[in-house]
Amino acid sequence: MSQVYNFCAGPAMLPTAVMERAQAEMRNWNALQVSVMEVSHRSKEYIAMAEQAEQDLRDLLAIPDNYKVLFCQGGGRGQFAAVPLNLFGDKLEADYIITGQWAKSAAEEGKKHGKINQIDIRETAEDGSVSLTPSTKWPLNPDAAYVHYCPNETIEGIEISDIPDTGDVPLVADMSSTILSRSIDVSKFGVIYAGAQKNIGPSGLALVIVREDLLGRARQAIPSILDYQVLANSDSMYNTPPTYSWYLAGLVFQWLKEQGGIAEFAKRNEAKANLLYDYIDGSDFYQNQVDKQYRSWMNVPFQLVDESLNEAFLAESAEAGLLTLKGHRIVGGMRASIYNAMPIEGVEALVSFMQIFASKHQ
Ligand code: PMP
Repeated sequence: MSQVYNFCAGPAMLPTAVMERAQAEMRNWNALQVSVMEVSHRSKEYIAMAEQAEQDLRDLLAIPDNYKVLFCQGGGRGQFAAVPLNLFGDKLEADYIITGQWAKSAAEEGKKHGKINQIDIRETAEDGSVSLTPSTKWPLNPDAAYVHYCPNETIEGIEISDIPDTGDVPLVADMSSTILSRSIDVSKFGVIYAGAQKNIGPSGLALVIVREDLLGRARQAIPSILDYQVLANSDSMYNTPPTYSWYLAGLVFQWLKEQGGIAEFAKRNEAKANLLYDYIDGSDFYQNQVDKQYRSWMNVPFQLVDESLNEAFLAESAEAGLLTLKGHRIVGGMRASIYNAMPIEGVEALVSFMQIFASKHQ
């Protein structure tokens, strides 16, 4: 098979070493003569694997002891509902910081459960370039049950790398497309959640990291499978968990540790992103319109200045083994998602293709 690089935003590529190990263990996991998909989640082998996966994640992100880690179902959108149902308590309002499509979707779901103050912090200039209001200037409501934000907007490629200070109001972050890409101080958050299918493993799994004092506030009518307290009490096995996704996430965590942990990946991710943005900025054939300080390390949207070449770009890049570069349908253009599993060689191959394409069509 010739070398391909898959730039899909999610489900995204997984590390080759992880895929090879999963393949080797596919029909005989843990010397049990069956696949990990075929064993009980209550077996001692599965529980040992599940606990190790949690421990590895705790090590990677230095998660403090007063936080629970939950392995949930329902993806990112499941958490759009779980967050208000778990956190409103007897409060009536919550703040949602609007940075793009995913933050908006989270706010829409939140509206079913209480009064949502949408704080749109995007600043769009006439030429279409986008910046954000810094977090120190956000008009936050001190009576909010929580502040929800999306540190990395997967579609627009906008990332907020400093952690907002929300005082005593719990900070909730949708980290679906940024978790594990750089070091974070978990103690600054009330809840962190992420759908798995970008930087963690296959879809079907969502991770929740929740500060213990926020447990036990859920609304009475909350479905039990969304109740953080129920999930914490049952070690995320209140119902049958997505066992294969959990196993594969565990392999990804092991791989991240073997490769040097999150500090190492932060370096790699910054280098990959710089390579691509520097090339785009230096070219008059491509453009990226996000303010440099808010550009995402994980999702790099770009446009061809002459959009009539989009179809040719997509066809020729796919032929060159550079897959799924089409931007999200809402924003158009191109997008290269370069999560942890994408090696620098993939970004180098993309940049050299972009150079060749530009010189051919200029
Ligand atoms: N939040 C973000 C930031 C996302 O990128 C996505 C999916 N691309 C979601 C939420 C929704 O995730 P899911 O499809 O797992 O519900």
